[in-house]
Amino acid sequence: MVRPVASEAAGGSAQTVLGPLDAYRLGFTLAHEHIADAPYYLDKWPKDWGGRAGLVARAVAKLKLVRAAGVSTIVDLTTYDVWRDIRFLEEVSRKSGLNMIACTGQRFFPPTTSVSMPARTIDGLTEFFVKEIKQGIDDTSIKAGVIKIGIAAKAPTSSEETGLRAAVRASKATGASIRIHARAAERAADNLVVILDDEGLNPARVSFDHSDDSGDLDYFLGLARRGYSLSMDHVHRGTMPDFKPSLEIRAECIKSLINAGFAGKIFLSQDCEFGGSLLPEDEKGWRDKIDPPDGMFFVTRKLIPHLKQMGVSERDIHTMTVENPRAFFGSF
Ligand SMILES: [Zn+2]
Repeated sequence: MVRPVASEAAGGSAQTVLGPLDAYRLGFTLAHEHIADAPYYLDKWPKDWGGRAGLVARAVAKLKLVRAAGVSTIVDLTTYDVWRDIRFLEEVSRKSGLNMIACTGQRFFPPTTSVSMPARTIDGLTEFFVKEIKQGIDDTSIKAGVIKIGIAAKAPTSSEETGLRAAVRASKATGASIRIHARAAERAADNLVVILDDEGLNPARVSFDHSDDSGDLDYFLGLARRGYSLSMDHVHRGTMPDFKPSLEIRAECIKSLINAGFAGKIFLSQDCEFGGSLLPEDEKGWRDKIDPPDGMFFVTRKLIPHLKQMGVSERDIHTMTVENPRAFFGSF
């Protein structure tokens, strides 16, 4: 076995669904994806295709191709309230050979399911998130490796603010990083950093996801200069007429941030609803239909070649896809 050099080993440990992993072994990481809201897809899954076993087999076959394309780790940001199925994630990780990191947290409030939860006070939610990170998810010993919080609009509702404050306290208690679904087009993060500051969180532990839904470089630079990370994970949507900005503007923003010295604050991903890609066309919902046409392959097949063509260096690609995830998820 090749021993890591000291700088690689310094990345700490990540919590994957198969247990702790030295962070230098995460490799090329897609930091914001959805493998399957499994019970949701199982409801749609045609019985004569083999139910759960058939879904697992199809998922594993396709994920092996994703691994062959150079991806080594996928972070699944499907929370308990949108049908996260931790056993499904564990099984497809083990059978595909891809590392996977599961999340705790909440998507939006109110939840879309009636999963039982502790009282939704800051203390109650903090306890729930810490339990999923330190002890395990549901009735398993599989631990969450990151916290995901969804904020639907420009400013958080009071319930969303409760969730965000709980996420910060759980992060401080466990070391887990936080990924926030924030409306970049309305500069939502500007409102959220006030709460993060109030709670005294280190910005290095936070990523604002779907940031490329804005083309506002001033907004990006303000956040990056303060130490926050920006996840560019909707770039494929720039190819669709209903979504602004265009792919070209999104890619230009990435390049401008790199030129300004912030490659160390960028993640590349594609927010893919992978489970939907396994269903027949007429079974797909709206979310599946706006997925990248290349599904889990958009970043490796389209985005990275596009960025290279614009002059982004191999080294900066490595920083965004390997080094940044290592530091962000290797916080245990
Ligand atoms: Zn997502």
